Amino acid sequence: MNKFTILLIEDEKSICDFTSRTLSSHGYRVRCASTGREALSLASSLCPDIFLLDLGLPDMDGMEVIQQIRTWSNCPIIVVSARTQENDKVQALDAGADDYLTKPFGTSELMARIRTSLRHSVRLINGHNSTQHPYRAKNLEINFFKRIITIEGQPVHLTPIEYKIVAFLAQHSGKVMTYSAVMNNVWGPYAESDNKILRVNMANIRRKLEKNPAEPVYIFTEVGVGYRMAEDENTL
Ligand code: CA
Repeated sequence: MNKFTILLIEDEKSICDFTSRTLSSHGYRVRCASTGREALSLASSLCPDIFLLDLGLPDMDGMEVIQQIRTWSNCPIIVVSARTQENDKVQALDAGADDYLTKPFGTSELMARIRTSLRHSVRLINGHNSTQHPYRAKNLEINFFKRIITIEGQPVHLTPIEYKIVAFLAQHSGKVMTYSAVMNNVWGPYAESDNKILRVNMANIRRKLEKNPAEPVYIFTEVGVGYRMAEDENTL
């Protein structure tokens, strides 16, 4: 069997040992690096399928590791960090990380994030552009060709901006998208840095999509970071 290889970049030996045992028992091949430099040299020789990166490393900032990896690789990077600062998460995501986990995290959460990130990268490699397939989660369906969103088969009327926001999140379903990533995609690179307009649109979207907008089941808020849309069930 061709196992997926995970490069675990973590300087705390106990966390490293525990995480690699957990990953191995779930069928992944694991290599560990305890410094940024070791990680970068291993990365080019190992060609891992996924990176699990601790932001607080002894020799360099994890943010720099992300930037270096992104100069040559699109491989998924999941940031694992004790930092609870929302700003750090946003920075890591905008630097090219795919997702983040805050320590301490549960095994099932870690496994779910890894599966989601791998699915996205496999889809990209195989050229399965999600725009060709409808998105489906619970009662919600999006037909990207016809630009139609239905709930329980009934069309939902969204403005063009609202549609763009939902379609963008759906194309990256399961992953958190930062406010600025959504803003850039919808309003372009010169969008205002204030995300009020996005929050106003999201409130309207939720009123149209969610039975109870205060307890959304389709689009979740990651406070201070961005939005995460429920994983496309067609790919589960
Ligand atoms: Ca650390």
